[in-house]
Amino acid sequence: MAASLTERDKKVVWHPYTPQKYMPEPIPVAKGDGVYIIDTNGKAYIDAISSWWVTIHGHANTYIAEKIYEQAKTLEQVIFAGFTHEPAVRLAERLLEILPGKFAKIFYSDNGSTAVEVGVKMALQYWWNKGSAKRNKILALNHSYHGDTFGTMSLSERSVFTLAFQEKLFEVIFIDPPGQGQQYNGPWDEIACFIYEPLLQGAGGMNIYEAAALNDFLKQCHAHEVICIADEVMTGFGRTGKLFAGMYVQEKPDIICLSKGLTGGTMALGVTACTEKIHSAFVDEDRRKTFFHGHSFTANPLACAAALASLDLLLQAGCQLRIERIEKHHKQFLEQLRADARFVSHIKNLRSIGTIMAFEIESGRDGYLNTIGMDVTQKVLQQGVYLRPLGNTVYIMPPYCITHEQLQKVYDVLVQVLETVV
Ligand SMILES: *Cc1c(COP(=O)(O)O)cnc(C)c1O
Repeated sequence: MAASLTERDKKVVWHPYTPQKYMPEPIPVAKGDGVYIIDTNGKAYIDAISSWWVTIHGHANTYIAEKIYEQAKTLEQVIFAGFTHEPAVRLAERLLEILPGKFAKIFYSDNGSTAVEVGVKMALQYWWNKGSAKRNKILALNHSYHGDTFGTMSLSERSVFTLAFQEKLFEVIFIDPPGQGQQYNGPWDEIACFIYEPLLQGAGGMNIYEAAALNDFLKQCHAHEVICIADEVMTGFGRTGKLFAGMYVQEKPDIICLSKGLTGGTMALGVTACTEKIHSAFVDEDRRKTFFHGHSFTANPLACAAALASLDLLLQAGCQLRIERIEKHHKQFLEQLRADARFVSHIKNLRSIGTIMAFEIESGRDGYLNTIGMDVTQKVLQQGVYLRPLGNTVYIMPPYCITHEQLQKVYDVLVQVLETVV
């Protein structure tokens, strides 16, 4: 008999964030369809975390697929130094119209980590170009997550993710999220930039913090000329209820980083936007002041076409209504959980923002290595729902196209499974 896909996989593939011992076998996927991931046996699972937070319009969306196909027949890729093309320019124009802030230029890369790397390199080189190279310290938040490359690991909370690389990471000043503890009070004149995930810290444990406190801190940063870098890789494109989390905050960033939902979760693309103030520091006769950064697939036309198509869908009134409906249902579900006597002493920190709801299961210690999340994953999968808690932090982050019935199924299955694990 021919080897199964999982057997062949096991021989040759190494999966991300996956212990190489005692892990359940990966599910062989045949196709995606809307909110469903469908395996090779035809079993369908509701993708209740949008495939690591990227799939905002559901899987195998035909509108986006056709735009990618059209683009692939026209121009699939071209070097982006010295050349340009319609999808990249059009996407930059459209993003600049909707981004939360007065941005002037779009710099393309190909994932969330690179979008953040680009943002921080821009900020550091901004000061170098201005002859203030000593202004080179970076402020970041406790519980932050900005990616898995060395630069972005350095910017992320020191955790089990970064343990093996501790000594190779550059120094960053970590402070508590605004409104949640100790604030930074200086010295300011050595701080080049402050990087933050606005309102919602994702991989660090779905920590929600106050817009007003963030606003105050951004004002303080700007008063001291600190460059503010918003990492909206996960919060962008409707996740927090508004188009961008930065829209809840009056004070605007100087640099913003985007990826994940940018292409509707279909193609790898990263965007870093900056204000004219930042860009102008790179306009100089001295060629050493060039931003020497780029990737092979910078502004890949297929990815830009996918992003344009995703924006078409996202900006339809119907999509905003669906986002608001998810938000409302999450709130009702949280109320139901809070009132449920079976769970009062077993789950805590029930919270939601936009299309995301989360809570912790009380079970031993908090954190990513808590294995209760893996139990939850296996049990909900059996009932046709996919969830992937971060340690003991359970969260739901569905594609916006999820129907009321499908979302209700996710809630019902989660409640049933909670009964068995708490
Ligand atoms: C996922 C994520 C990143 C990294 O994006 P990748 O595409 O996985 O490299 C960066 N910042 C935030 C806030 C993220 O959620």
